[in-house]
Amino acid sequence: MNKQDKLSVVVVGAGIIGASIAYHLSLRRNITVTVLERDEPGSGASDHSFAWLNSFGKDPRSYHHFNRRSMELWHRFAHNLEADVGFHCGGELRWENTAEGAEALQQRIRQLQAWGYLCRLITIDELRRLEPGLSPDLVTAASLSEADGQVDPSKVIDACLKRACERGATVHSQTPVTGLCLGKKRIEAVKTPKTEINCDMVVLASGVNTTELAAMAGVDIPQQESPGIVIRTDPRPPVLHTISALHAPAIDANRAGIHLRQCTDGTLRIGQGTQQSLNQDDSQEHANDLLNRATHYLPTLAGARAIPVPVGYRPMPLDGLPVLGFSEAAPNLYIALMHSGVTLAPLAGELVTLEIADGACVETLQPYRPERFCRR
Ligand SMILES: Cc1cc2nc3c(=O)[nH]c(=O)nc-3n(C[C@H](O)[C@H](O)[C@H](O)COP(=O)(O)OP(=O)(O)OC[C@H]3O[C@@H](n4cnc5c(N)ncnc54)[C@H](O)[C@@H]3O)c2cc1C
Repeated sequence: MNKQDKLSVVVVGAGIIGASIAYHLSLRRNITVTVLERDEPGSGASDHSFAWLNSFGKDPRSYHHFNRRSMELWHRFAHNLEADVGFHCGGELRWENTAEGAEALQQRIRQLQAWGYLCRLITIDELRRLEPGLSPDLVTAASLSEADGQVDPSKVIDACLKRACERGATVHSQTPVTGLCLGKKRIEAVKTPKTEINCDMVVLASGVNTTELAAMAGVDIPQQESPGIVIRTDPRPPVLHTISALHAPAIDANRAGIHLRQCTDGTLRIGQGTQQSLNQDDSQEHANDLLNRATHYLPTLAGARAIPVPVGYRPMPLDGLPVLGFSEAAPNLYIALMHSGVTLAPLAGELVTLEIADGACVETLQPYRPERFCRR
């Protein structure tokens, strides 16, 4: 503890997870928060995200419920940030155009309903009523997941850091953490190119770089490489009127289906395949192709401009599940690494704060402890 008996916590990384943790920690009077960001806040995976708030494809059931709980927190989180963070909860619409696709969708909806997820199969008439601008061709099955939503991660990050700074936190951009000063099984300070910063605790919310930083303290956090592409368009008049996110099937055997959403500024985000699909093609041609596929189903997009975005790398723990908790090798080092971090940001912020500020041991986090990788 420092002179004022305040716990000083350094958060490494200002993506949506680090920003949410910093914001939630800053709500506690007994904590001093310092955020160190290598580049600019939001320049990692959060800036490349499709940012669909969902628990559609999340397995097993415990992980599905974990995401569900965070989805439910988004209303309060967005409200408390007192800023426009692009939060819209209009649901997710999808359809299939093959018999196999219909079978898989019907099965998934049955499973999700058994878990109590607010989703259902819908008729083609309902699909048309929800989104009159859609021209879906053949529909073999369609569904609506009513509780799904979307946000603008960069606005969330800005709002979190603004609120945290109002409560005394400090944020240093262009400040990479280059080393950890280890005492007796504890981290005493973090090193940056210019200085060393003393601290009581360190939170690694450094996305894909978490692995190399954790290794400096002897903690093994393996990840798999998971590149993805979500392109943008120029601002368009509303093409979607109700829903937050759309998944459309493949038009032909050679090209995967797409997912698409429209942001509050009118620009669109378009990716291909599922939320986990691997893709590294950041060319203008590929961006044009994604937009063409979207225009096939949403003809009012004709004339839109496709803006390619460099490949983004999802923070992706080896088993696909979040890593949240203190590490045995360095007990004042807290790891916060996860895919679906946009969905999970409010819950991660709240639970990490309970563990750091109150010394709680949150049972819900037991499946996600870093130690599971020591047993490999
Ligand atoms: C293509 C794609 C689509 C996605 N779609 C969705 C989706 O639809 N829904 C969803 O919920 N999630 C989605 N995700 C996942 C989600 O975006 C991420 O889980 C989330 O953004 C992770 O946030 P983060 O703060 O942990 O990491 P990041 O946003 O990567 O932030 C980490 C920060 O740490 C900084 N940093 C790294 N090393 C250091 C260092 N040494 N010193 C200081 N700072 C450092 C980086 O510069 C970066 O700003 C998607 C991701 C991608 C890439």
